Amino acid sequence: MILPELERLKEYFFEFSESWIRPTSEIVSHSLLIRVTHNCPWNRCKFCDCYKGKKFECRSVEEIKQDIDATRAIRDEIDALAKKLGGMNWVAKVIDSYFLYNKSPMELKGNELKNFQSIVNVFNWLDFGARTVFFQDADNVIMSTPDLVEVIEYLKQTFPSIERIASYARVKTLAKKTLEELRELYRAGLLRLHIGFESGDDEVLRHINKGVTSKEHISAVKKAKEAGFEIAEYVMPGIGGRDRSEQHAKNTARALNEIDPDFIMLRPYIPRKGTSLFEEYKKGSFQLTSPHERLRELKIFIDELNVKSRVCFDQPVMNSWYRDPGRRYLLFKPDSDGYKFPEEKDRVRELIEEGLAIGESVHIHAKDQIELPHL
Ligand code: SF4
Repeated sequence: MILPELERLKEYFFEFSESWIRPTSEIVSHSLLIRVTHNCPWNRCKFCDCYKGKKFECRSVEEIKQDIDATRAIRDEIDALAKKLGGMNWVAKVIDSYFLYNKSPMELKGNELKNFQSIVNVFNWLDFGARTVFFQDADNVIMSTPDLVEVIEYLKQTFPSIERIASYARVKTLAKKTLEELRELYRAGLLRLHIGFESGDDEVLRHINKGVTSKEHISAVKKAKEAGFEIAEYVMPGIGGRDRSEQHAKNTARALNEIDPDFIMLRPYIPRKGTSLFEEYKKGSFQLTSPHERLRELKIFIDELNVKSRVCFDQPVMNSWYRDPGRRYLLFKPDSDGYKFPEEKDRVRELIEEGLAIGESVHIHAKDQIELPHL
């Protein structure tokens, strides 16, 4: 006999970003994913292929609320199943055997796939305590403040267990919001912003077409900090190439010293096919730094950094530095808590020295990472 809860579960799904891009901290906390916008309003950074050719738009409050309602309906059916079957372990087994009978998740298509992904996302979220939510896609603060507050409040009323909502945000958008608007968003429950800084050097920012200067970045992020947000800044070792490596390291550290974000996330640059920076790299006008050059750049950056942030190497593919036959090694620990500065600054310096003591041919060059998928 098929359980009626399983039959009903087949009716629900909500929207996900096709890119599945989200911070590692949101992956490990199994955050519920709520899609607030489609794609990126800028979409012109020369290194980025995340939303290429895709149009940006804000979803309507009604559409997002419908997704939240679908999430609640899935939660109710999973709760009912857990009570009936005696725990979440049984629910997982029953869902797998019912939805994946005779097939793998890779074979699911269209609404069947969306339905399964929605159930898995809600199941994992509940199993991890239903505490964190991540808004998709690249810049959700761009939505009108009253609309976004309405979405956040509806979400929190629907799920009182939520402790943290996080989102990517673009600096130009933060600059346009008033301090009071940012405070409203924070008070409503949007607590953490993930911001792509990449570099604090204006020449590098111009070259990669980030669309913002270092000064604009510092001022907008400081305002967001003042509003109360927890700030995670993303930095790209190697994005200055050979020519601008040192200035990239020094000016990025200088800017971060002014901001003193809660987290500094390092995402070494890997050329992505289909981007204009990849074409520059192929033609030779942009030269990738070698692994030792990257470590020396990192050394300058870390030496100049005077912050109370956590410095994180939490993306293990981009941060795998060297290999033995068949195995990749991480020089730095890959967790989302990283190293607490200034207390662990010397530890990071020691690890850089360890990396430099390893022959360069054992290291993984960024050019060997090009084919790796995004995570
Ligand atoms: S703002 Fe972010 S998502 Fe948009 S193009 Fe730049 S890096 Fe890509």
